[in-house]
Amino acid sequence: MKLVQLIYYSKCSSAPENLNSDLIKIAHVATNNNGNIGISGLLLFSNEYFLQVLEGPRVIVNDLYFKIQKDSRHKDSRILLYRDVNHRDFGDWSMGWASDVIAKKDIYFKYCSRRDFTPSDLTGEAGLALLKDIGDLLKS
Ligand code: FAD
Repeated sequence: MKLVQLIYYSKCSSAPENLNSDLIKIAHVATNNNGNIGISGLLLFSNEYFLQVLEGPRVIVNDLYFKIQKDSRHKDSRILLYRDVNHRDFGDWSMGWASDVIAKKDIYFKYCSRRDFTPSDLTGEAGLALLKDIGDLLKS
């Protein structure tokens, strides 16, 4: 089956008082839904930004991305990478979840040239490498 990998970033738009509960709901729905539709991936939240990789069959990834994009809990979504792949890099997770508790600030410095996560600094390949590093941290 042909697989694609899509990486985007977006800015969180939840009100501060709703942030924690919104993050919990998003992580919960993503983990539950994605396993049923053949999607794997990882979602990072840091410095008010999301960075997410979705991988799976092309039509499913495309449809899911367009649904996520309409979610008013975030805005200004930008695709960093979209490519055909032969295997999954994030097959361990229907949707791995990471925040600054897991991703230490040094990791952002490696890819964003500063200690705060600024995804607009990332190339697609750097976004993928950052998410893979975070995946390794989740496994360790
Ligand atoms: P509904 O909840 O009825 O969704 C209908 C529409 O309303 C969708 O466009 C949805 O985006 C939007 N919506 C739903 N709840 C809210 C809310 N509380 N506030 C504002 N808009 C809302 N879902 C996944 O299945 N897999 C993922 O990997 C995934 N990643 C996400 C990453 C981010 C950064 C965000 C913000 C959301 C993500 N979601 C993900 C959630 C997704 O947007 C939908 O809310 C969810 O899939 C449920 O959609 P639904 O069509 O089943 O039902």
